[in-house]
Amino acid sequence: MNAALVYSPNYDISLPGLDWLHPFDGRKFSRAWTRLGALSRGTCDQVLLCPEAPIATSDLLRVHSQAYLDSLGSPRVVAKALEIGPLAWLPPGVVERRILRPMRLACAGTLLAMSHALQKRAVAMNLGGGFHHAFRDHGEGFCIYADVAAALAAVRAQGLLAADDPVAIIDLDAHRGNGVWSLCGSDPSVHVMDIYNAQVYPGFFPGSVEEFPFQIPVKAQTPDEAYLATLREELPPFLASMPRKPALAIYNAGTDVLAGDPVGRLGVSEEGVVARDAMVLEGLSGQGIPTVIVTSGGYSPKSYELIAQLARRVMQLPQVPA
Ligand SMILES: [Zn+2]
Repeated sequence: MNAALVYSPNYDISLPGLDWLHPFDGRKFSRAWTRLGALSRGTCDQVLLCPEAPIATSDLLRVHSQAYLDSLGSPRVVAKALEIGPLAWLPPGVVERRILRPMRLACAGTLLAMSHALQKRAVAMNLGGGFHHAFRDHGEGFCIYADVAAALAAVRAQGLLAADDPVAIIDLDAHRGNGVWSLCGSDPSVHVMDIYNAQVYPGFFPGSVEEFPFQIPVKAQTPDEAYLATLREELPPFLASMPRKPALAIYNAGTDVLAGDPVGRLGVSEEGVVARDAMVLEGLSGQGIPTVIVTSGGYSPKSYELIAQLARRVMQLPQVPA
């Protein structure tokens, strides 16, 4: 069965002045899709799955507290999680419509991608999602809703994944996925490999290297050679460390590892990001592991281009026989 791409034009976060307040490009999702349309000569429409409604509150409540979800009615709470102080002065309805609803739609996209990957034993890429700094009772680091943990809980509830089926999470966003770890790190079925810049938020993993060998810090400005060598050395032993072949892999393909990204502060070139993505896809889909990709952070003007290139690569994967 074919790989799928998951996207909606309503993923964009459009708020007047956002560009001035945060380096995040709120339109990178539609920019990536438009670019992919050009790269694929429009054929991306043939593999598109479009989430039609935001993720259900009942799905979010598997990983978030009711009190936290209720607190998001306050723009002050949202402003703090997004680190954009002036948002606190916006009317709650504007924050809900322009920010929270698009984010919940992206969460629905991660769930849709995960369901597709498991049902078709395929690769499915959500062109959004990857909010890996969202916790049960608060959000931070531009993340409000824990899409990956919520989607995992939902596919288990639907019977698409058994509680003891091994799940691999490979987080290559520049920042350490502290929210994902807080929600999934103690789950014996979920195994996390995280290569992160230890010199930016949220800093070093608070555990020993001996006990958690796949929480892997790298230095700021790490260039291609060292970054790719780390991935090449660590990915095979990580997958081999699991009790059996993963029933599902989740790849957080954050593009903020790109050199010049003002938030990620690593030194990987565009070619390096493309090589990274190829290495992960080869390691996962090459073994026939159902895989979900989320795009997570990326704060440079080139982010959308790299997302489009990865989506194009997903489209070109060999088809898995039905
Ligand atoms: Zn990041």
